[in-house]
Amino acid sequence: AGWFGHVTEAPRDPILGVTEKYLADTNPMKINLGVGAYRDDSGQPWVLPSVREAERRVSGSHFMEYLPIGGHRQFCEDSVRLAYGEHAEVIKGKQVAMLQSLSGTGSCRLFAEFQGRWMKGSKIYIPQPTWSNHHNIFKDAHVHEVLYPYYKPETRGLDLEGLLDCLSKAPAGSVVMLHACAHNPTGVDPTTEQWQQISGLMREKRLFPFFDMAYQGFATGDCERDAQALRIFLQDGHRLALSQSYAKNMGLYGQRVGCFSIVCDSPSEAKAVESQMKALARPMYSNPPLHGALLVHQILSDPSLKRQWFGEVKLMADRIISMRTLLRENLEQLGNPLSWNHITDQIGMFCFTGLTPEQVNKLTNEHSIYLTRNGRISMAGVNTGNVSQLAQAIHSARE
Ligand code: PMP
Repeated sequence: AGWFGHVTEAPRDPILGVTEKYLADTNPMKINLGVGAYRDDSGQPWVLPSVREAERRVSGSHFMEYLPIGGHRQFCEDSVRLAYGEHAEVIKGKQVAMLQSLSGTGSCRLFAEFQGRWMKGSKIYIPQPTWSNHHNIFKDAHVHEVLYPYYKPETRGLDLEGLLDCLSKAPAGSVVMLHACAHNPTGVDPTTEQWQQISGLMREKRLFPFFDMAYQGFATGDCERDAQALRIFLQDGHRLALSQSYAKNMGLYGQRVGCFSIVCDSPSEAKAVESQMKALARPMYSNPPLHGALLVHQILSDPSLKRQWFGEVKLMADRIISMRTLLRENLEQLGNPLSWNHITDQIGMFCFTGLTPEQVNKLTNEHSIYLTRNGRISMAGVNTGNVSQLAQAIHSARE
Protein backbone atom coordinates (compact mmCIF):
# COMPACT_ATOMS: atom_id res chain seq x y z
CA ALA A 1 0.00 0.00 0.00
CA GLY A 2 1.06 3.59 -0.57
CA TRP A 3 1.84 6.06 2.18
CA PHE A 4 -0.91 8.59 1.71
CA GLY A 5 -3.88 6.74 0.25
CA HIS A 6 -5.83 7.42 3.45
CA VAL A 7 -5.38 11.20 3.28
CA THR A 8 -8.65 12.93 2.49
CA GLU A 9 -8.92 16.40 1.03
CA ALA A 10 -9.32 19.13 3.66
CA PRO A 11 -12.25 21.52 3.29
CA ARG A 12 -11.42 24.87 1.70
CA ASP A 13 -10.80 27.72 4.12
CA PRO A 14 -14.07 29.70 4.26
CA ILE A 15 -12.29 33.01 3.67
CA LEU A 16 -9.27 32.21 1.51
CA GLY A 17 -11.41 29.73 -0.46
CA VAL A 18 -13.49 32.71 -1.64
CA THR A 19 -10.39 34.30 -3.18
CA GLU A 20 -9.56 31.06 -4.99
CA LYS A 21 -13.02 31.05 -6.58
CA TYR A 22 -12.81 34.76 -7.40
CA LEU A 23 -9.50 34.28 -9.21
CA ALA A 24 -11.00 31.53 -11.33
CA ASP A 25 -13.89 33.75 -12.51
CA THR A 26 -13.40 35.30 -15.99
CA ASN A 27 -16.10 38.00 -15.67
CA PRO A 28 -14.31 41.39 -15.97
CA MET A 29 -16.90 42.94 -13.62
CA LYS A 30 -16.16 40.49 -10.77
CA ILE A 31 -15.79 41.89 -7.25
CA ASN A 32 -13.92 40.27 -4.34
CA LEU A 33 -15.39 41.21 -0.98
CA GLY A 34 -14.09 38.09 0.77
CA VAL A 35 -10.72 38.66 2.34
CA GLY A 36 -10.17 41.63 4.64
CA ALA A 37 -7.45 43.47 2.80
CA TYR A 38 -7.54 47.21 2.15
CA ARG A 39 -7.99 48.43 -1.43
CA ASP A 40 -7.89 52.01 -2.69
CA ASP A 41 -10.71 53.58 -4.66
CA SER A 42 -9.47 51.99 -7.88
CA GLY A 43 -9.54 48.55 -6.26
CA GLN A 44 -5.76 48.28 -5.94
CA PRO A 45 -3.70 47.28 -2.89
CA TRP A 46 -2.11 50.30 -1.20
CA VAL A 47 1.40 50.51 0.19
CA LEU A 48 1.32 53.26 2.80
CA PRO A 49 3.69 56.16 2.01
CA SER A 50 5.00 55.97 5.61
CA VAL A 51 5.89 52.32 4.97
CA ARG A 52 7.63 53.23 1.71
CA GLU A 53 9.62 55.87 3.59
CA ALA A 54 10.55 53.34 6.30
CA GLU A 55 11.60 50.92 3.55
CA ARG A 56 13.82 53.57 2.01
CA ARG A 57 15.46 54.21 5.37
CA VAL A 58 16.19 50.59 6.22
CA SER A 59 17.16 49.56 2.71
CA GLY A 60 20.80 48.54 2.50
CA SER A 61 21.43 49.56 6.11
CA HIS A 62 21.33 46.26 7.91
CA PHE A 63 22.55 42.69 7.86
CA MET A 64 20.25 39.78 7.21
CA GLU A 65 21.12 38.05 10.47
CA TYR A 66 18.68 36.11 12.64
CA LEU A 67 16.63 38.05 15.12
CA PRO A 68 16.60 36.61 18.66
CA ILE A 69 13.81 34.10 19.44
CA GLY A 70 11.69 36.93 20.88
CA GLY A 71 12.26 39.09 17.82
CA HIS A 72 13.20 42.77 17.59
CA ARG A 73 13.14 44.07 21.15
CA GLN A 74 12.62 47.75 20.37
CA PHE A 75 9.85 46.88 17.94
CA CYS A 76 8.10 44.98 20.75
CA GLU A 77 8.51 47.89 23.13
CA ASP A 78 7.14 50.38 20.55
CA SER A 79 4.32 47.99 19.91
CA VAL A 80 3.10 47.56 23.48
CA ARG A 81 3.29 51.34 23.98
CA LEU A 82 1.02 51.80 20.97
CA ALA A 83 -1.55 49.45 22.46
CA TYR A 84 -1.37 49.94 26.24
CA GLY A 85 -0.59 53.67 26.01
CA GLU A 86 2.58 55.74 26.08
CA HIS A 87 2.39 56.13 29.86
CA ALA A 88 0.91 52.79 30.86
CA GLU A 89 1.78 51.85 34.45
CA VAL A 90 2.27 48.19 33.56
CA ILE A 91 4.99 49.16 31.08
CA LYS A 92 6.75 51.45 33.56
CA GLY A 93 6.49 48.67 36.12
CA LYS A 94 8.13 46.18 33.70
CA GLN A 95 5.18 43.86 34.08
CA VAL A 96 4.76 43.12 30.38
CA ALA A 97 6.14 39.93 28.84
CA MET A 98 6.43 40.42 25.07
CA LEU A 99 7.58 38.73 21.92
CA GLN A 100 7.48 39.50 18.20
CA SER A 101 5.02 37.17 16.52
CA LEU A 102 4.08 35.99 13.05
CA SER A 103 1.34 38.59 12.71
CA GLY A 104 -2.00 38.24 14.47
CA THR A 105 -2.49 34.59 13.64
CA GLY A 106 0.92 33.77 15.09
CA SER A 107 0.25 35.56 18.35
CA CYS A 108 -3.20 34.01 18.71
CA ARG A 109 -1.61 30.61 18.21
CA LEU A 110 1.16 31.30 20.71
CA PHE A 111 -1.42 32.42 23.24
CA ALA A 112 -3.46 29.26 22.65
CA GLU A 113 -0.35 27.15 23.20
CA PHE A 114 0.54 29.17 26.30
CA GLN A 115 -2.96 28.72 27.68
CA GLY A 116 -2.83 24.98 27.04
CA ARG A 117 0.49 24.67 28.83
CA TRP A 118 0.20 27.18 31.68
CA MET A 119 -3.51 27.68 32.35
CA LYS A 120 -4.22 23.99 32.51
CA GLY A 121 -7.76 22.80 32.06
CA SER A 122 -9.11 26.29 31.34
CA LYS A 123 -11.43 26.81 28.40
CA ILE A 124 -11.45 29.63 25.90
CA TYR A 125 -14.69 31.59 25.53
CA ILE A 126 -15.02 32.78 21.96
CA PRO A 127 -17.65 35.21 20.63
CA GLN A 128 -20.34 33.82 18.37
CA PRO A 129 -19.65 34.62 15.55
CA THR A 130 -15.94 35.27 15.24
CA TRP A 131 -13.12 35.19 12.68
CA SER A 132 -13.30 31.59 11.45
CA ASN A 133 -9.62 30.86 12.04
CA HIS A 134 -10.00 31.36 15.82
CA HIS A 135 -11.75 28.00 15.99
CA ASN A 136 -8.94 26.24 14.12
CA ILE A 137 -6.26 27.86 16.26
CA PHE A 138 -7.60 26.76 19.64
CA LYS A 139 -8.63 23.36 18.33
CA ASP A 140 -5.13 22.67 17.04
CA ALA A 141 -3.69 23.84 20.38
CA HIS A 142 -6.06 21.38 22.16
CA VAL A 143 -7.79 24.12 24.13
CA HIS A 144 -11.53 23.58 24.42
CA GLU A 145 -13.73 26.40 23.20
CA VAL A 146 -17.06 27.58 24.49
CA LEU A 147 -19.05 30.05 22.41
CA TYR A 148 -20.51 33.11 24.11
CA PRO A 149 -23.40 35.07 22.59
CA TYR A 150 -22.24 38.27 20.91
CA TYR A 151 -24.54 39.27 18.09
CA LYS A 152 -28.29 39.68 17.97
CA PRO A 153 -29.60 39.21 14.42
CA GLU A 154 -32.90 40.97 15.23
CA THR A 155 -31.20 44.23 16.18
CA ARG A 156 -28.06 43.65 14.15
CA GLY A 157 -26.30 44.81 17.30
CA LEU A 158 -24.57 43.51 20.42
CA ASP A 159 -26.29 40.82 22.49
CA LEU A 160 -25.07 42.36 25.75
CA GLU A 161 -27.50 40.46 27.96
CA GLY A 162 -26.62 37.11 26.43
CA LEU A 163 -22.93 37.88 26.69
CA LEU A 164 -23.05 38.94 30.35
CA ASP A 165 -25.29 36.05 31.27
CA CYS A 166 -22.99 33.50 29.65
CA LEU A 167 -19.81 34.97 31.14
CA SER A 168 -21.36 35.22 34.58
CA LYS A 169 -21.73 31.44 34.51
CA ALA A 170 -18.21 30.71 33.27
CA PRO A 171 -15.99 28.96 35.82
CA ALA A 172 -13.38 31.20 37.49
CA GLY A 173 -10.06 30.90 35.67
CA SER A 174 -11.63 30.70 32.21
CA VAL A 175 -10.17 32.76 29.40
CA VAL A 176 -12.38 35.10 27.37
CA MET A 177 -11.35 36.21 23.92
CA LEU A 178 -12.38 39.75 23.09
CA HIS A 179 -11.92 41.55 19.78
CA ALA A 180 -10.29 44.79 20.91
CA CYS A 181 -12.07 46.82 18.22
CA ALA A 182 -13.72 46.44 14.82
CA HIS A 183 -15.19 43.02 15.59
CA ASN A 184 -14.77 40.57 12.73
CA PRO A 185 -17.18 39.62 11.13
CA THR A 186 -20.02 41.66 12.66
CA GLY A 187 -18.63 45.22 12.73
CA VAL A 188 -20.35 45.56 16.11
CA ASP A 189 -18.30 46.78 19.09
CA PRO A 190 -19.46 47.35 22.67
CA THR A 191 -19.79 50.99 23.72
CA THR A 192 -17.52 52.47 26.41
CA GLU A 193 -20.12 51.79 29.11
CA GLN A 194 -20.66 48.24 27.86
CA TRP A 195 -16.91 47.56 27.93
CA GLN A 196 -16.84 48.82 31.52
CA GLN A 197 -19.65 46.44 32.38
CA ILE A 198 -17.90 43.50 30.73
CA SER A 199 -14.63 44.35 32.44
CA GLY A 200 -16.32 44.67 35.84
CA LEU A 201 -18.05 41.34 35.51
CA MET A 202 -14.87 39.61 34.38
CA ARG A 203 -12.95 40.99 37.36
CA GLU A 204 -15.66 39.86 39.74
CA LYS A 205 -15.80 36.36 38.22
CA ARG A 206 -12.02 36.02 37.89
CA LEU A 207 -12.06 35.58 34.12
CA PHE A 208 -8.88 36.23 32.14
CA PRO A 209 -9.11 38.51 29.08
CA PHE A 210 -7.32 37.71 25.85
CA PHE A 211 -7.57 40.64 23.44
CA ASP A 212 -7.21 40.04 19.74
CA MET A 213 -6.33 43.41 18.26
CA ALA A 214 -6.04 43.00 14.50
CA TYR A 215 -7.53 46.37 13.51
CA GLN A 216 -6.14 49.11 15.77
CA GLY A 217 -7.04 52.35 13.95
CA PHE A 218 -9.46 50.75 11.51
CA ALA A 219 -12.58 51.20 13.63
CA THR A 220 -12.55 54.96 14.21
CA GLY A 221 -9.48 56.02 12.25
CA ASP A 222 -7.78 56.83 15.56
CA CYS A 223 -5.32 54.29 16.98
CA GLU A 224 -5.60 55.76 20.48
CA ARG A 225 -9.37 55.66 20.49
CA ASP A 226 -9.39 52.11 19.18
CA ALA A 227 -7.31 51.00 22.17
CA GLN A 228 -9.95 52.10 24.64
CA ALA A 229 -11.34 48.66 25.50
CA LEU A 230 -7.89 47.34 26.32
CA ARG A 231 -7.13 50.41 28.43
CA ILE A 232 -10.41 50.15 30.33
CA PHE A 233 -9.44 46.61 31.34
CA LEU A 234 -5.95 47.80 32.37
CA GLN A 235 -7.49 50.60 34.44
CA ASP A 236 -9.64 48.03 36.17
CA GLY A 237 -6.53 46.14 37.19
CA HIS A 238 -6.88 43.09 34.96
CA ARG A 239 -3.96 40.91 34.04
CA LEU A 240 -4.41 40.08 30.37
CA ALA A 241 -2.92 38.85 27.11
CA LEU A 242 -2.83 40.73 23.82
CA SER A 243 -2.32 39.88 20.19
CA GLN A 244 -1.36 42.75 17.87
CA SER A 245 -1.13 42.66 14.09
CA TYR A 246 0.29 45.21 11.66
CA ALA A 247 -1.27 43.46 8.67
CA LYS A 248 -4.18 45.86 8.29
CA ASN A 249 -3.22 49.12 9.96
CA MET A 250 0.18 49.30 8.25
CA GLY A 251 -0.79 47.22 5.24
CA LEU A 252 2.02 44.77 6.04
CA TYR A 253 -0.08 41.68 5.33
CA GLY A 254 2.58 39.48 3.76
CA GLN A 255 5.39 40.63 6.06
CA ARG A 256 3.81 38.77 8.99
CA VAL A 257 4.60 41.22 11.73
CA GLY A 258 2.84 41.25 15.07
CA CYS A 259 3.39 41.27 18.79
CA PHE A 260 2.22 38.97 21.56
CA SER A 261 2.25 40.26 25.11
CA ILE A 262 1.05 39.25 28.56
CA VAL A 263 0.59 41.65 31.48
CA CYS A 264 1.91 40.05 34.68
CA ASP A 265 1.99 40.91 38.39
CA SER A 266 5.69 41.73 38.67
CA PRO A 267 8.93 42.04 36.68
CA SER A 268 10.08 38.62 37.84
CA GLU A 269 6.81 37.02 36.77
CA ALA A 270 7.03 38.79 33.40
CA LYS A 271 10.54 37.46 32.96
CA ALA A 272 9.46 33.88 33.60
CA VAL A 273 6.41 34.22 31.34
CA GLU A 274 8.50 35.73 28.56
CA SER A 275 11.00 32.89 28.78
CA GLN A 276 8.12 30.43 28.37
CA MET A 277 6.79 32.33 25.35
CA LYS A 278 10.21 31.87 23.77
CA ALA A 279 10.19 28.20 24.71
CA LEU A 280 7.01 27.87 22.65
CA ALA A 281 8.32 29.83 19.67
CA ARG A 282 11.72 28.14 19.35
CA PRO A 283 10.57 24.65 18.26
CA MET A 284 7.80 26.12 16.08
CA TYR A 285 9.68 28.60 13.88
CA SER A 286 12.86 29.47 15.79
CA ASN A 287 12.67 33.25 15.32
CA PRO A 288 10.47 35.74 13.49
CA PRO A 289 11.13 37.60 10.21
CA LEU A 290 13.25 40.73 10.27
CA HIS A 291 12.09 43.11 7.57
CA GLY A 292 8.58 43.96 8.76
CA ALA A 293 9.74 44.55 12.32
CA LEU A 294 12.37 47.02 11.07
CA LEU A 295 9.71 48.91 9.14
CA VAL A 296 7.30 49.12 12.06
CA HIS A 297 10.11 50.15 14.39
CA GLN A 298 11.14 52.95 11.99
CA ILE A 299 7.60 54.28 11.92
CA LEU A 300 6.75 53.99 15.60
CA SER A 301 10.06 55.38 16.88
CA ASP A 302 10.10 58.52 14.71
CA PRO A 303 7.45 61.00 15.92
CA SER A 304 7.02 62.65 12.53
CA LEU A 305 6.78 59.39 10.59
CA LYS A 306 4.41 58.06 13.22
CA ARG A 307 2.21 61.14 12.84
CA GLN A 308 2.20 60.60 9.09
CA TRP A 309 1.19 56.96 9.61
CA PHE A 310 -1.68 57.97 11.93
CA GLY A 311 -2.94 60.15 9.09
CA GLU A 312 -2.75 57.28 6.62
CA VAL A 313 -4.67 54.94 8.93
CA LYS A 314 -7.34 57.60 9.22
CA LEU A 315 -7.45 57.93 5.46
CA MET A 316 -8.11 54.19 5.07
CA ALA A 317 -10.75 54.18 7.82
CA ASP A 318 -12.43 57.27 6.35
CA ARG A 319 -12.59 55.79 2.86
CA ILE A 320 -14.30 52.72 4.28
CA ILE A 321 -16.73 54.85 6.26
CA SER A 322 -17.62 56.85 3.14
CA MET A 323 -18.24 53.60 1.22
CA ARG A 324 -20.68 52.52 3.95
CA THR A 325 -22.65 55.72 3.41
CA LEU A 326 -22.56 55.32 -0.34
CA LEU A 327 -23.68 51.68 -0.29
CA ARG A 328 -26.57 52.50 2.00
CA GLU A 329 -27.61 55.49 -0.13
CA ASN A 330 -27.51 53.37 -3.27
CA LEU A 331 -29.75 50.72 -1.70
CA GLU A 332 -32.18 53.32 -0.45
CA GLN A 333 -32.30 55.01 -3.86
CA LEU A 334 -33.17 51.68 -5.46
CA GLY A 335 -36.23 51.74 -3.24
CA ASN A 336 -35.24 48.69 -1.24
CA PRO A 337 -37.83 48.47 1.54
CA LEU A 338 -35.52 46.91 4.16
CA SER A 339 -33.55 48.92 6.69
CA TRP A 340 -29.89 49.36 5.83
CA ASN A 341 -28.90 51.44 8.85
CA HIS A 342 -26.63 48.64 10.03
CA ILE A 343 -24.29 49.29 7.10
CA THR A 344 -23.40 52.68 8.54
CA ASP A 345 -23.83 51.67 12.21
CA GLN A 346 -21.26 48.88 11.98
CA ILE A 347 -17.59 49.77 12.06
CA GLY A 348 -14.23 48.50 10.94
CA MET A 349 -13.41 46.61 7.81
CA PHE A 350 -16.52 44.46 7.56
CA CYS A 351 -20.24 44.73 7.14
CA PHE A 352 -22.43 41.89 8.33
CA THR A 353 -25.12 42.34 5.72
CA GLY A 354 -27.71 39.86 6.94
CA LEU A 355 -27.67 38.07 3.57
CA THR A 356 -28.52 34.37 3.86
CA PRO A 357 -26.25 31.69 2.36
CA GLU A 358 -28.75 31.34 -0.53
CA GLN A 359 -28.63 35.06 -1.22
CA VAL A 360 -24.84 34.95 -1.05
CA ASN A 361 -24.89 32.19 -3.68
CA LYS A 362 -27.09 34.36 -5.86
CA LEU A 363 -24.67 37.28 -5.59
CA THR A 364 -21.80 35.03 -6.55
CA ASN A 365 -23.46 32.98 -9.29
CA GLU A 366 -25.46 35.76 -10.95
CA HIS A 367 -23.29 38.82 -10.31
CA SER A 368 -19.74 37.52 -9.80
CA ILE A 369 -19.61 39.13 -6.36
CA TYR A 370 -17.56 37.05 -3.96
CA LEU A 371 -18.09 37.03 -0.18
CA THR A 372 -18.14 34.54 2.68
CA ARG A 373 -21.28 32.50 3.23
CA ASN A 374 -22.09 34.23 6.51
CA GLY A 375 -23.01 37.36 4.54
CA ARG A 376 -19.91 39.28 5.57
CA ILE A 377 -18.59 41.77 3.03
CA SER A 378 -15.22 43.45 3.25
CA MET A 379 -16.04 47.14 2.92
CA ALA A 380 -12.42 47.69 1.91
CA GLY A 381 -13.21 46.10 -1.45
CA VAL A 382 -16.03 48.56 -2.19
CA ASN A 383 -15.23 51.66 -4.26
CA THR A 384 -16.96 54.40 -6.23
CA GLY A 385 -16.62 52.25 -9.37
CA ASN A 386 -18.37 49.14 -8.07
CA VAL A 387 -20.75 50.34 -5.36
CA SER A 388 -23.80 50.71 -7.60
CA GLN A 389 -23.26 47.25 -9.11
CA LEU A 390 -23.02 45.85 -5.57
CA ALA A 391 -26.14 47.70 -4.40
CA GLN A 392 -28.15 46.46 -7.38
CA ALA A 393 -27.04 42.89 -6.77
CA ILE A 394 -27.95 43.04 -3.07
CA HIS A 395 -31.25 44.71 -3.96
CA SER A 396 -32.20 42.01 -6.42
CA ALA A 397 -31.11 39.23 -4.03
CA ARG A 398 -33.15 40.71 -1.17
CA GLU A 399 -36.37 41.85 -2.80
N1 PMP B 1 -7.70 38.27 14.27
C1 PMP B 1 -8.73 38.74 13.55
C2 PMP B 1 -10.00 39.06 14.23
C3 PMP B 1 -8.57 38.92 12.17
O1 PMP B 1 -9.59 39.38 11.46
C4 PMP B 1 -7.34 38.60 11.56
C5 PMP B 1 -7.13 38.78 10.08
N2 PMP B 1 -8.15 38.50 9.25
C6 PMP B 1 -6.31 38.13 12.37
C7 PMP B 1 -6.52 37.98 13.71
C8 PMP B 1 -4.95 37.75 11.89
O2 PMP B 1 -4.45 38.33 10.78
P1 PMP B 1 -2.89 38.29 10.47
O3 PMP B 1 -2.37 36.96 10.89
O4 PMP B 1 -2.81 38.51 9.03
O5 PMP B 1 -2.30 39.40 11.27
